[in-house]
Amino acid sequence: MAQSGVEAANTGLVIVGGGQAAASCAARYRAKGGAGPVAIYCAEPVPPYQRPPLSKAYLLGDMPLSRLLLRPESWYDEQAITLHLGTRIEAIDTDARTITTQAGDQAGYGHLVLATGSAPRQLPAAIGGDLAGVHVVRDLADVDRMAGGLREGARAVIIGGGYIGLEAAAVCAKLGLDVTVLEAAPRILGRVAAAETADVIRDLHVGNGVTVREGCQVAHLRGADGHVTGVTLASGETLEAEVVIVGIGIAPETALAEAAGIAVDNGIATDTHGRTSAPHVWSAGDCASFPFRGAQMRLESVQNAIDQAECVADNILGADTPYDPKPWFWSDQFDMKLQIAGLNAGHDSLHVRAGEGLTRSHWYYRDGRLISVDAINDPRAYMVGKRLIEGGRTPDPAQVVDPSTDLKALMKTV
Ligand code: NAP
Repeated sequence: MAQSGVEAANTGLVIVGGGQAAASCAARYRAKGGAGPVAIYCAEPVPPYQRPPLSKAYLLGDMPLSRLLLRPESWYDEQAITLHLGTRIEAIDTDARTITTQAGDQAGYGHLVLATGSAPRQLPAAIGGDLAGVHVVRDLADVDRMAGGLREGARAVIIGGGYIGLEAAAVCAKLGLDVTVLEAAPRILGRVAAAETADVIRDLHVGNGVTVREGCQVAHLRGADGHVTGVTLASGETLEAEVVIVGIGIAPETALAEAAGIAVDNGIATDTHGRTSAPHVWSAGDCASFPFRGAQMRLESVQNAIDQAECVADNILGADTPYDPKPWFWSDQFDMKLQIAGLNAGHDSLHVRAGEGLTRSHWYYRDGRLISVDAINDPRAYMVGKRLIEGGRTPDPAQVVDPSTDLKALMKTV
């Protein structure tokens, strides 16, 4: 497997980015008979790996690096896919159809796929965001760097109550740290989950000893000898901390595309088929926006990265298939598995199906149609909800909430 260096006259498929979308695009291209050279340019020094376990099992120390890899290194050789690891692309010339690496090497492309992903938002250095002991959770190096500081009894302040912050909080609590989550918005998971689901997750954290503070503004971080010692709030209160984990969202990596004159609109703008504004240039994954319900939409999820990248590979091979997003997400925190099917934006009614203990599901409707299901420790509700949504079918909410209704049987009658 080539680790670096550039073929001078590569006219095949070139993929920029080394995440889930990049690996899925390359695999699909080969699986569907795509011929010619395929090259992946990846700024990180490791082959494409799964990101979701970084804030869960890998952070907890329950998963080795070998299991994180999406494919063994030998697979790329077998598939004649050249991996250029540790190689950042600096420029694209869409007229000459070339890319240029940081080292100044050039390669041509027949088709180019931008799967550049996203970068975590950071706290500014001016308020202490660059102190040692302040971490983000985005790539392997971030997690490896923080692992040594997660010692039993240490105080951890988590800034941001999204999935990253809450998953990291759960891991820290399991490892015996004293954990506080600070969320700036009025409630946790404001952008990504409905209030009813956020309520369950807040209770779960509080029940496991995590302090959750919402509507709480961070003023600055405090430090001594270059290491973080605490977080000062806008109220003037200071929370002492040896570890600070920042999970305040991500921004799509669009700079390379923008510099090449490729249109950007909430991400690298693609059409329904994954094409960007430049001929022979496509985009998929966290970095790419696509037309959805009248706007350019981005979905920050593994499923989207896989499905969109596979759709792009198919279209490069001439399939002419529009991208049809089928959103689903999951999160593991403590002994809870949350699975979400569909998007609940714009729901006008919610129906709760309660089970034993934590088990429950939230069914969201808009204009009388089922649009989304949040299933908590209830894989059956998730599976049934997902199939119904994907089939455009809507069950009677009265039957859904009745715990005596067999959901699998219900599915057959709708
Ligand atoms: P996120 O979902 O955008 O959540 C960040 C949260 O932090 C938001 O609630 C945000 O509030 C809040 N926030 C922003 N600035 C803040 C500040 N200065 N102080 C305190 N709170 C602040 O992003 P994330 O949790 O960082 O996750 C990053 C990406 O990874 C997302 O796309 C996420 O969906 C994905 N991810 C997914 C999973 C999963 O599906 N299980 C797990 C981990 C990560 P505002 O919205 O008001 O700004």
